[in-house]
This record gives sequence, structure tokens and C-alpha cells, in this order.
Amino acid sequence: MAVSYTQFPGHWGFDAKASPPWQMLPVGGMRFLMASGTFGLAPRVHVPSGSAASLTATESFAAGYSLLKLTGIRGGKAFIDWAPPGTSLSDPFVSEGLLEVSVKAQKLVGTAFHYVEAGRRQTTARRIADLEDMIRGANELLTPQANVRLESKSAKILNLRQRLGKVVYDAGDPEKPWKRDEWEIVTRNADPSADFNVFFVREFEDDDTPRIDRTDAAVRWWERNCILEDDTGHDAAEVLAHETMHLLRLGHSTKAAHLSAPGHLRTGTIITRDQANIINRSGT
Ligand SMILES: [Zn+2]
Repeated sequence: MAVSYTQFPGHWGFDAKASPPWQMLPVGGMRFLMASGTFGLAPRVHVPSGSAASLTATESFAAGYSLLKLTGIRGGKAFIDWAPPGTSLSDPFVSEGLLEVSVKAQKLVGTAFHYVEAGRRQTTARRIADLEDMIRGANELLTPQANVRLESKSAKILNLRQRLGKVVYDAGDPEKPWKRDEWEIVTRNADPSADFNVFFVREFEDDDTPRIDRTDAAVRWWERNCILEDDTGHDAAEVLAHETMHLLRLGHSTKAAHLSAPGHLRTGTIITRDQANIINRSGT
């Protein structure tokens, strides 16, 4: 019987569609997979040459399941396979049940949050008191799947001298004279020592349809700046997690189930192997 893996409900950094299947394992953390077809076999850890990975893999049994328990010790790439107990690693590699593991060190994103006030029509309704919940929600998506963690470096009200209108515009195409470009007016107040600057505004648009409200936020990763509006279609924590992935150089996915799918398409919050390996290079 072929060895196969099933993850526990929720998103814990297991990618069954990757070949071989893949598991993200945090340094200093654990992951469990339900394994079937492992009768009479034991898990083995293979660390390819050039990888600094250190981890343990043990099998236990609970409620009729075989559980593979992985513990991450040091970052790097590794593989698990299954062989009769006592089989040494110099014995032929058993590709049955092969699992790729990325042991990932935590990637911290120290973020400065700015609550923009730019006149009566352009003042964010968000409150600093709600920030902790928002960061927790974003980390619930990013940390278990990719070991990326947002941290608040600072959170302040940013009172702009300049009064802005109902919508903060980012002129995607500066050739169009009817477009105002207010990106710089807002983001020039960034904290250059932060990994990421997030500006909360009341309403933001950056596309060719400035009168249709369809853009919730935008990131310029090369500036490490994000503008994020109040009325996001999705949960604000989810939008913050999505924008953080843009900061970390990930583009859009066309699969609705992915957290990296654009807002108008997105129905899920999955981060795949390839996406996790872009936003956190550790263990690749
Ligand atoms: Zn996006």
C-alpha cells in the first residue's frame, strides 16, 4: 500500500499538490501529518548535501491513525521517506512516501502603521486599539503556512498638512492628466527603518476606473510601502496578509483558493509550497 499523507483541518503549510508533497516546518516548531500505508515501515530523514537542515521525524499511533511528527531544529531543505526499521540511509533510497520538508526560520516583518488624517473627507476610521487583532489575524494565515510574522514597530496617527479628497488616488499611468497622484503625498512619511510601512486611508483607488470602488490596497515592494483603505471587501487582516506577501515579492495567483489571488477573485487563504518559498526563502 502506497504511503500517503493527510494534514489536519486548517492550513498548516502542507502542499499535497506539490511533487513530492511538501510540508513547511518552523525552526523550533512541530508539524503532524496523518500517514497511511506505513505499516512495517519507519520514517527516515534525508538531508541533501549543501543543506543545513536539522529535524527529527517520528511515528506514533493515535485513534487508529499513524501520525508523522516532525520537529524543526535548524533551517534547510530535507526529505522524509519510509523504510523498514533499522534500514540505514546508505541503503537504496525508498521513494515511496517521499515528502519534502522546508525547515524555515521565522521571517519577521517589522511594520510601521500610519493612521492617515488628511482633512474631513479623508480620515481613516480605523483605530490603533484594533491593530493587535488585525495583526493576529494576518499572522494566523502567514505564520503556520510560511513562518512569516508581522510585528508592529510603531502605530501612529499621521496628520497630513495637505487636505485630500474622498479618494486617495495612485496614478498607475501618469500620462493621463485627469489622474491625480497622491501616493507620494501619503507615503513620503514612511519610517525608513521599518521593513514595511502600512498607511491606513479611508478610500483608495489605483486603477483605470477611479470612480468604481474595486481596489482595496496596493503595495510598492521596492519602496516597502502599502496603502490600505477602510472598506476592504475581505476581512482587513486577510487583506493585510495578502499585501504582506506582495511586499515579500509574490505576485497574484489565478487560483481563487490562494491567499495571493486578487481580492475580487479570492475565496480561500491557502499558501502553496512555491509561494511560501518566495515569501520566506529559509529552507529552500
Ligand atoms: Zn494583490
